Amino acid sequence: MRFFDNHTHSQFSPDSATSMSELAAQAIAVGAKGISFTDHLDLEAPRNTDKFVFDVKKQQRELECVAEKYRDKLQILRGIEVGLQPCAIKSTKEYTSPHDFDVVVASIHFVDGLDPYYGDYYLEKDYKTAYGRVLELIYETATEYKDFDIVGHFDYVARYAPYKVRDIMYKDFPDELDVLLKFLAENGKALEINTKTYGDQRGHIQKLDVSVLKRFKEFGGEAISLGSDSHDAHRVCDKFPYFWEVVKSCGFNNLVYFENRRPVFYNPERF
Ligand SMILES: [Zn+2]
Ligand SMILES: [Zn+2]
Repeated sequence: MRFFDNHTHSQFSPDSATSMSELAAQAIAVGAKGISFTDHLDLEAPRNTDKFVFDVKKQQRELECVAEKYRDKLQILRGIEVGLQPCAIKSTKEYTSPHDFDVVVASIHFVDGLDPYYGDYYLEKDYKTAYGRVLELIYETATEYKDFDIVGHFDYVARYAPYKVRDIMYKDFPDELDVLLKFLAENGKALEINTKTYGDQRGHIQKLDVSVLKRFKEFGGEAISLGSDSHDAHRVCDKFPYFWEVVKSCGFNNLVYFENRRPVFYNPERF
């Protein structure tokens, strides 16, 4: 089986020290068909404001060199992960518009000026309020920003949550998830399975609720994207064979990657 890893971070992201060349070499080692470098752009970040920005031209020049080096072995695609917040929609559009990308991942990393990674976001909120607000915000910013291909880690907020039951279950957020999944399905956007979210998260085994995938399919959604969210080379395509089985069990026959902002559907077993 050969996969595309649609979500990885190189040294152009402030929280990764891994070179594009190392990530590409590992992608080849695990038999990947392709990889997208989706470095972080988070404008108006509440902390380290100046850090989550990168020089797109410089990143793409480096990417071209690495793509040339591995030309016959791996397809390397130009990506970006834009961190959306209502206050950063306009500036993010301005920052990205001069550049061409193969794929744009839109994610929420900050919520109402707080960073869930540090835990203060969850203070005095039960999981219904904490998760509900994030899902609402993903919908709000995605429908306003529009210029993206994949919605990244919809359940990121559960990664760092302090609750006993931490997974985002469809049954607890049917309204918030329905509007989002419907919007994605109707606009040909992809839903990401971010494999970094699942597994051991600070002592809790976090799981994906397959009802979310099934509901996306019911709305006519077709595009499921697998992303490792690797910041280190060793996680490239992490758990992809397992999640491909999960995707199939929900009735999908293909996965997707994006080239020149267009979806390419593929079956990893036929590559
Ligand atoms: Zn992210
Ligand atoms: Zn990421």
